Amino acid sequence: MMRTASVIACIAVVLLSGCGSAAPPPSAPPPATPTDQAAFRDLYKELVETNTSASAGDCTLAAQRMAARLKKAGYPDGDLNVFVPPDHPKDGGLIATLHGTDPASKPILLLAHIDVVEAKQEDWGRDPFKLVEENGYFTARGAVDDKSMAAIWVDSLIRYRAENFRPKHDIKIALTCGEEGGAQVNGAEWLVKNHRDWIDAAFALNEGAAGTLDEQNNRVSLDIQAGEKVYQNFTLRTTDPGGHSSRPGPFNAIGALGGALARISAFNFPTQVNDVTRASFERRGALTPGPMGQAMKALAANPNDAAAAATLSADPVFNATLRTTCVPTQIQGGHARNALPQQAEANVNCRIFPGTPGADVQKTLTDVINDPKITIQPVEPFTSAAPVPPLSDTILRPATEVAAKMWPGVPLIPTQSTGATDGRYLNEGGIPTYGLSGRFYRTGDDHTHGLNERILARSLYESRDYLYEVTKLYANS
Ligand SMILES: [Zn+2]
Repeated sequence: MMRTASVIACIAVVLLSGCGSAAPPPSAPPPATPTDQAAFRDLYKELVETNTSASAGDCTLAAQRMAARLKKAGYPDGDLNVFVPPDHPKDGGLIATLHGTDPASKPILLLAHIDVVEAKQEDWGRDPFKLVEENGYFTARGAVDDKSMAAIWVDSLIRYRAENFRPKHDIKIALTCGEEGGAQVNGAEWLVKNHRDWIDAAFALNEGAAGTLDEQNNRVSLDIQAGEKVYQNFTLRTTDPGGHSSRPGPFNAIGALGGALARISAFNFPTQVNDVTRASFERRGALTPGPMGQAMKALAANPNDAAAAATLSADPVFNATLRTTCVPTQIQGGHARNALPQQAEANVNCRIFPGTPGADVQKTLTDVINDPKITIQPVEPFTSAAPVPPLSDTILRPATEVAAKMWPGVPLIPTQSTGATDGRYLNEGGIPTYGLSGRFYRTGDDHTHGLNERILARSLYESRDYLYEVTKLYANS
């Protein structure tokens, strides 16, 4: 009850302050009040303190707790779908819907994963599933990845309901388990394969992008992610009858495999540029001093500028942005110190440029290896080679408008991720998915997946205001 009262009180303040202007700007963020933030903080705390790691956690419980909050805020049971994949009682998730006024227009989907990376009490020196607020930070496992966003989505739905906000499009949130790997069922993948209709949407917002702070915590830029590279492993294997190591022949399984891996390591896939990376280099180039900035601007102007590509390729992140990469990550072989190896095997991990078929990468690797005694097989079935989602005005304008109001002068920069999130399943499933958070941090300061994962309290609250506001614009567009 206390919570509901404080939310309503806050909204009253927002409405009153908004009433003063003849045409209230739709993208003006509401002034955050301490009581309003306290309600959100309480929700965020509950979600973070619900252990959802694969070993000891329970995503279904977290989903139920968030559903209970939405029910208390007035959402009927029919709009709260706690789903549980068969035979995985703890890997559940939640889909909740705020209905729009136009049934003909497609919903906007807000995706966040609620599972977290393992965290051990003995490593942390305290309970990693207790939210600690100190020195301006919230610290706990999942404080950022991705419970900050999950809590913001639930909180936004509660606020919209309290305001009686009736957007044109339905707003759906999907909180899912299993993004971090391990034994949990991946909820986003499961939904796309089994209940695509539950999450059908014009487009989705997801994790995958943030803003950058400099060393003094000044805002430098805000990223919007459109497109991700595709994760694909290949097994390289070679076999041999083997024998006594004192009588080696011309062929050696480990030697042959080593040669193949050396050729792969020395090989660079050709550079590729698409709309997203081109825009990214153009805008980032304007912020980057020296030869790197020059190279970014040159490549944006001419994607065939080989010298610019070479300069950028010296940086591992930009190199990964410019091409498919494939690297050996594991190796094993032989069975005794004094025996010729009967087999040798390696894993090669590829990050495939969006839109490139996995079979093409396999063919390139086969050509580079150039040794018929070495087989190369995909570990996972190839995924569809989805191109990057379009950077349309519908997507960019609201994100830019709200950012300009909250952080004047901070540019919005499109990015293509070198890693992958659950966005890949949605993009493959035909739902264009964008990473957008409005969360700013200093590079490396968030410690996601590591010890003392943390988020600046200021950044969390700003992210909440940004996403609340930008979703409103999308839902009425
Ligand atoms: Zn993660």
